[in-house]
Amino acid sequence: MILKIIHHHSLLTCPLPTILLTLIPGLDVKVQWLTAEDDLVSEECEMNDQEVREIGDEFPSGATEPPQHPNCRCVILKVG
Ligand SMILES: [Zn+2]
Repeated sequence: MILKIIHHHSLLTCPLPTILLTLIPGLDVKVQWLTAEDDLVSEECEMNDQEVREIGDEFPSGATEPPQHPNCRCVILKVG
């Protein structure tokens, strides 16, 4: 019940689900890495683009979630 309340609240107030997901480790949650998909996307972000991992697992670049560098504009979205 508590998790449900936090989840709902986060969706309303936070555009990035990153904070929510890192607060609740151990759940079987999969996330997909999405870049800004323009010429400014860095190489390490590009290699993660569209990749799906369980929350907390490393993406191809070695990062578990954005931002992985200053000015990183990537987001992760809950999938499945
Ligand atoms: Zn990025």
